[in-house]
Amino acid sequence: MSPKRPVEVRLAIAALAFLVAVVAVLGTWQVLAARSSQRSEIEAGEVSEAHLASSALASALASRLDLLSNLADNVSLSTIFTKAKAAEQATIARTLHLIYPGFASFDVIAASGRLDARWPAEPAVVGKDVSSQAFFANVMRSGKPYISQAMQQNAPPKELVTILAAPVRDTSGRIVGILAASIPGSSLASLIGGTMLRDGGALVVFDQFGHAFTGPGAGAKQSFATLPGVASALAGRTGAETGTVPGYSGQRLVGYAPVASTGWVVVVEEPSAVLAGPIAALTERLAAIGLAVALLAAGIVALVASLLRKLMRERERVGALMASVGEGVATIDMDGVVQLTNPAMDALTGWPSSGLVGKKWAEALDLYDQRGNLIPWEESIAAQAAIQGNVVATTGYGLHLARADGQRLPVAMTAAPLRAGNDLLGAVVVLRDVSREREVDQLKSSLVSTVSHELRTPLTMVQGFSELLLSRQDLGEKRSREAVEQIHASAQRLGRLIDDLLSVSRIDSGKLRVDLGAVDVREVVDEVVKVAGSQTEGTLAQGVLFADRLVVEVAPGLPAVLADRDKLVQVVMNLVSNALKYSPSGAPVRIVAERKRDHAEISVIDQGIGMTEAECAQVFEKFTRADRPEVRKVSGTGLGLYITKSLVEMQHGQVWVRSEPGKGSVFALSLPLTPEPERGEAFALQGMKEPR
Ligand code: ADP
Repeated sequence: MSPKRPVEVRLAIAALAFLVAVVAVLGTWQVLAARSSQRSEIEAGEVSEAHLASSALASALASRLDLLSNLADNVSLSTIFTKAKAAEQATIARTLHLIYPGFASFDVIAASGRLDARWPAEPAVVGKDVSSQAFFANVMRSGKPYISQAMQQNAPPKELVTILAAPVRDTSGRIVGILAASIPGSSLASLIGGTMLRDGGALVVFDQFGHAFTGPGAGAKQSFATLPGVASALAGRTGAETGTVPGYSGQRLVGYAPVASTGWVVVVEEPSAVLAGPIAALTERLAAIGLAVALLAAGIVALVASLLRKLMRERERVGALMASVGEGVATIDMDGVVQLTNPAMDALTGWPSSGLVGKKWAEALDLYDQRGNLIPWEESIAAQAAIQGNVVATTGYGLHLARADGQRLPVAMTAAPLRAGNDLLGAVVVLRDVSREREVDQLKSSLVSTVSHELRTPLTMVQGFSELLLSRQDLGEKRSREAVEQIHASAQRLGRLIDDLLSVSRIDSGKLRVDLGAVDVREVVDEVVKVAGSQTEGTLAQGVLFADRLVVEVAPGLPAVLADRDKLVQVVMNLVSNALKYSPSGAPVRIVAERKRDHAEISVIDQGIGMTEAECAQVFEKFTRADRPEVRKVSGTGLGLYITKSLVEMQHGQVWVRSEPGKGSVFALSLPLTPEPERGEAFALQGMKEPR
């Protein structure tokens, strides 16, 4: 790829980057959304698990407390309590332990606070005062059954237990003692269906002071009342939190619920990594999808970029083709709006391409018909091609284009439909400047009319005088000679005309060659004067010799010029014969030759009819004659000065004219002098010294 990428390719790459960014943002958003929903789902699970466990624990404890109350309400039991017979009390404790296996031990405690009996037997505690213990004080004060906090037993196996206690009353309702039973922390776990959870989590039961009954932190001494979850549940709330839990490593996700009526707490805890698992899977899936999308996008972009490159190369080819066409080309859509122009069209119309593209063809370009009327779009041949699908072309020089600078040009126009398959898209219009063709055409017609006129005049003379000679035997010698002279002059005129035509044709076809060498201007002028001067005005008999009118002024010692001698004679002859032709009879014609720095200037000066400025500007063009009676009455083709100018220029010289109507004209030409050494030679040959 080239270092500077085309704008379309850069756009495609930007689109790819955008697409990938969108996928990344959407993916991240998805992961965050999934994480948050996954988290709330897992948290809700924790909470409901904690809630279920707390309900199970509350109802199990309540039913055991109920059972103990019912036993304590038994009348015969009150008798045993009041009699205070140790053996009976021990028996009742043992019997209850035997019948109700859900309890670890049973105690019979007197209203005074003395522990009267315990089963399984523990002689060390019998007779001890337990009145200071919270459960005793509570039951005696409230008269209601009570569940204690976590307590450490003194005797082995020194289990962590909770004590359930219920008052025993006599027939008058007086509390005569307390029936107490212990449940070990370890069996609380079985009440809630076990404490181990999947994912390495656990259920932990805390008492009303935050002591753990189960798990690695179990004990009656350490309180976890300030831990996340425990504190909230102790305050009566249900919910989930993240934080550390004693005995477990790292951050834990904690679901918690209070246990009704006991003031206890159940906590469900799991490693917070449980949140990460499903999220990681989701992230991986999304990354895979993102990668697939990115690869697909990259593929599409590469394909689009290659298509665009191809398209652009094609466009450049068409652009180069359009630019290389010498004729004005434009494409127009169905509505007549210009889509594209080539440089030749811009040069032809004088509008820069921005001036035409995007505008209506008929509004942007002023095209006029033969009568000078603006051509509306519907009538234009561009519309015929764009709408009807025809190939149309103009003929002749009737169509004119007004350029941006106001100049009007004759143009030829071709319009062809622009198709894509069967669909018509608009038209291609080709405009061609036909000014030159029209000029050539006009030249041709003027050539035909001039030549036929110039041929006809001498031919008529030849015909007339020859018929006269043939039909009239009695014509005297003088008249017969005049007739022959006329025939001779006409034949010469015809000869000159044909010579001129041949010269023009050879000049135009580039066949005419010049043979340059050192030429002495005086010799040339002398030869012209000799030839021109030998002719007379009017007929030979009565005419004035031209020689009488010619005045020659050649600067003495004028160096030789570099020229073609015969052609220079032809040129000066032509200027001199024009000067004689277009001056009144008898008026002098001066031929002046002088040195102007490294040029020789030859001027032919007359006092004749002269020319206007406009005429001067055109005299050197083919078939140009001033349209005036003084000119018309003299025969001529309008080719002489064209030939003169061409010949002078072929000899690296220049020719010009200064003139004033009625006063006369000066036709002057300048030619380079021969280079010094050659010139020296020329003078040496002539036995002359070059003047300084
Ligand atoms: P031709 O003399 O055959 O018409 P030229 O090419 O020699 O053709 O001259 C062109 C025209 O220039 C003449 O027809 C005439 O109108 C004008 N012209 C040429 N020479 C002179 C001149 N010396 N004085 C006035 N007009 C001239």
